[in-house]
Amino acid sequence: MKIVFRKIPYTKSSFSIEVEGLLCDGVFYKESNKISLLDFQVAGKTPTECDRCGVLFDLCVNENLSIKICDGVSDSEDLDIIECLDQIVDFDEIVYSEIASIKSDYHYCEECKNEEGK
Ligand SMILES: [Zn+2]
Repeated sequence: MKIVFRKIPYTKSSFSIEVEGLLCDGVFYKESNKISLLDFQVAGKTPTECDRCGVLFDLCVNENLSIKICDGVSDSEDLDIIECLDQIVDFDEIVYSEIASIKSDYHYCEECKNEEGK
């Protein structure tokens, strides 16, 4: 889903995107002329490689995310702001990169988790 930045409404609108078994469900709205927000929950199971033994297992994800998007170059100190340089906000791309960053953390399969606990 793509939306032109200036067309994002000030009132909250809902969106829902499914990526790799995860459901991203939430709202988007404009906070100011230059800033829009995406508040959503990522929930579900997605196949992830165990960082210890390399086996593919279903990682349970349940996270709430809040993402700021700036129209053009951001003059804020906040490094988490996503700069939208072509006026087009690509929800799929944003959701995708957030999920990629969740998956890039260290994750262990059940068996390795049990080993750790011994
Ligand atoms: Zn493992």
